[in-house]
Amino acid sequence: MIYFCSQCGKPVRQRVPAGDNRLRHVCDACGHIHYENPRLVLGAIVEWQGRVLLCRRAIEPRAGCWTLPAGFMENGESTQAAAARETLEEACAHVEHSRLFALIDVPQIDQVHVFYRGALAGGKHAPGEESLETALFVEEQIPWSQLAFRTVRLALEHYFADRRAGVFGQHQLILEALC
Ligand SMILES: [Zn+2]
Repeated sequence: MIYFCSQCGKPVRQRVPAGDNRLRHVCDACGHIHYENPRLVLGAIVEWQGRVLLCRRAIEPRAGCWTLPAGFMENGESTQAAAARETLEEACAHVEHSRLFALIDVPQIDQVHVFYRGALAGGKHAPGEESLETALFVEEQIPWSQLAFRTVRLALEHYFADRRAGVFGQHQLILEALC
């Protein structure tokens, strides 16, 4: 919810602006319309000697669960750079040769999750501030029941399926239900 105008500080109200067809938070004092749009989450599937890098989350939501390095994209960066930055921040790891792998729409929470795949430079990793630990897993050891997010599970399932098939594709997916 938005209560006050970001431009002039006066209270806003919800109405459909002229020429629009959706409810927006509109400031009647200065006319500013506050648009809210989906957010991009960027992550990376980083492999080293057949193992995939996962992080155990130190923060909510899903503290203690395992995830791929991922987080919200920042203004002014590319999607590829965002995936690399999140990997560096959460796992102190550098991604090499990254390629777009999966785009997952999550309309229920107004997000789009995008995963790159790449190689882990030098095999080096360590927990960043938002991680309790980082580890490399072979497919058989992936902690499927302790994964933090459905999109992470989906991306990993497609990753290992592609790897078994011997060809990595690019996947466009929609996560309709969150539970
Ligand atoms: Zn205003």
